[in-house]
Amino acid sequence: MEKIINGKKKCTKCKEVKLLEAFLPTKQISSGITSKCKKCFNEYSKNWRLKNLEKTRAYFSEYRRKKNPSLGQPQIFVRDEKGKFAKRPLIK
Ligand SMILES: [Zn+2]
Repeated sequence: MEKIINGKKKCTKCKEVKLLEAFLPTKQISSGITSKCKKCFNEYSKNWRLKNLEKTRAYFSEYRRKKNPSLGQPQIFVRDEKGKFAKRPLIK
């Protein structure tokens, strides 16, 4: 149970007692605020996003490989006379 004393609450992560302003409001918990302070919550969600980004990336590249095996191979670009990649066929 979340304990709020004199408008202060202990963060479950850094164990620091902080003002309620230091916590994010949430509708998911009965106390109305998150159990982690904003600082810890930001770190947590950042790490979560990073972790999931890798997972998502791995998942999608695997998915794409299965769907279209040629995608994993290097693509061939046409270069124009200046050595730049041509976006469309060179027609003069
Ligand atoms: Zn904290």
